[in-house]
Amino acid sequence: MSKLENIILKGITASGGVSVGKAFLLDDDDICLIYREIPKNARENEKKRFDDAIEKTRQEFKEIYNKINDILGENYAHIADTHILILDDMNMRKDVYKLIEEGSNAEYAIFKVMDKVIRSFESIKDDYFKERKVDIQEVAKKILTNLLGKRKRSFRDLKENSIVVAHNLTPADTVTIKEKLIKGFITDVGGKTSHTAIMAQGLGIPAVVGLKVVSSQIKTGDTIILNGNTGEVILNPSAELLEKYQKEYDRQNEVIKELKKLKDLPIETLDKRSVLIFANIDNPDEVSSVLNNEAKGIGLYRTEFMYFNRNSIPCEQEHFEAYYRVVKEMSGYPTTIRTVDLGGDKLAKFGLLKLGREQNPFLGLRAIRLCLKYPDDIFIPQLRGILRASAFGKVRLMYPMISGLDELRDANKILQDVKQDLRKTNISFDEDMEVGTMIEIPSAAVIMDMIAKEVDFVSIGTNDLIQYTLAVDRINENVANIYNPMHPAVLRLIKHIIDNAHKEKIEVGMCGEMAGDPYYTPILLGFGLDEFSVSPFQVLKIKKVICGVSFEQARAISAKILKCGDKESISKIVSAIQMI
Ligand code: PEP
Ligand code: MG
Repeated sequence: MSKLENIILKGITASGGVSVGKAFLLDDDDICLIYREIPKNARENEKKRFDDAIEKTRQEFKEIYNKINDILGENYAHIADTHILILDDMNMRKDVYKLIEEGSNAEYAIFKVMDKVIRSFESIKDDYFKERKVDIQEVAKKILTNLLGKRKRSFRDLKENSIVVAHNLTPADTVTIKEKLIKGFITDVGGKTSHTAIMAQGLGIPAVVGLKVVSSQIKTGDTIILNGNTGEVILNPSAELLEKYQKEYDRQNEVIKELKKLKDLPIETLDKRSVLIFANIDNPDEVSSVLNNEAKGIGLYRTEFMYFNRNSIPCEQEHFEAYYRVVKEMSGYPTTIRTVDLGGDKLAKFGLLKLGREQNPFLGLRAIRLCLKYPDDIFIPQLRGILRASAFGKVRLMYPMISGLDELRDANKILQDVKQDLRKTNISFDEDMEVGTMIEIPSAAVIMDMIAKEVDFVSIGTNDLIQYTLAVDRINENVANIYNPMHPAVLRLIKHIIDNAHKEKIEVGMCGEMAGDPYYTPILLGFGLDEFSVSPFQVLKIKKVICGVSFEQARAISAKILKCGDKESISKIVSAIQMI
């Protein structure tokens, strides 16, 4: 493939900022094949090399079969079965042996034989057979990968500033990314609130997602300019463009320096209304960046990351140790620990959590539903870990995906039982620990008046609230254009939640991505939001907006916006906000 130059690709902005680096493809498919003459006395050995690669490939397909079977069921697992059948085709084997006996190296022999089969399939005028060639290519690629001893790339291979390029980054992939040399993410799929986006924001690096086929256009080592502010990705840029972006990068660092000057100021509007800015974290390592950015608490600790890349469910002690560390480091500032939100796109791979096939995982056995189904294995060990940690600092416990009072009461009933067990065995915990819930399902938002009577606080999860209100899959790039935080229905729901919670004197936070976008800050402030919980790197940006506007101004803006029903009138008001 010749090198593409100065190509501008446009995707969805997922995390702001600009960076330049070398592309690092997580799955690099480049396989270089050359003919080598194998001496006569080494040909038997070459056949054995081929047999070993076949065996290894069979094992891998078997593993894939088992994994798909566990997660999606047998119907889907047959995809891997088809691959095993191709692998075991005796004619293919005989033809490869023949070429090796004639002196070819195993790689070249496989390439020749498979290529012939693929070409013959291509000539058949039947779409089904044409498609089967993809399966054959997949099998050939796997055998060749094993023959050449290639492995999936690891972030440890990084040697210079790099931008990770992938079809998709799952939460399980991103949880291992802590590498300083990673300067951004680019993916084919995903939307603004996909976990690639959330992770990039947590790391303070730009990300552009939903680029559709970018991972097949970029090669490892290509130079990339990544503009997370506009959604542009520039492939192998000219010297001129590189210089322009270097200047933009320097400007960005200047802005960050300026923001740091806000650190010691109180978080209040021009007319002295105080607001809280908390931070969202995914793991205990992020606490330092929470404190460095002067967030006054953790408004969302997503605990599901503890469940990835392992074969067992975390036990009570593991929960306790993780939370204890965070709570101690937060030294008195509140830490809101959310009980686990597995399901949807956050899948763990073990035992009980092999959920079988779900047609609509975001509407399926997710979060609190999973906890209530498996209290002994999942929910209780986590509740015990959280309660024990509460003895060492200010912990708030929060449930995800509550859809109504019954679920809330069921969860609270288990919590009361767990507390009682701890008391009986003299294990200390904070008897006054606050218990709250995310409001991220429209049904819960609508009955906010009822929920507010039974919780100590709530936090609005706009990532899901928008998804469920507008029926837009939050990670599907094809509908990302209609995922709209400013839809009047979403804005009315947010206002309804805040007003009804305030009637019961309940504080309202927001921990979805909408809270971290300075664009929406005056509107949310005007609605009366008490707490913004955002990625640590967004804290000072939100603070700057809050400190630069009066509450009265914000109220006027939000009152106006509530009257708008269409994009045009909303965008007029939004342009006025940008003038502030
Ligand atoms: C949300 O839905 O807004 C939220 C914060 O939770 P998550 O992104 O983990 O689903
Ligand atoms: Mg959510």
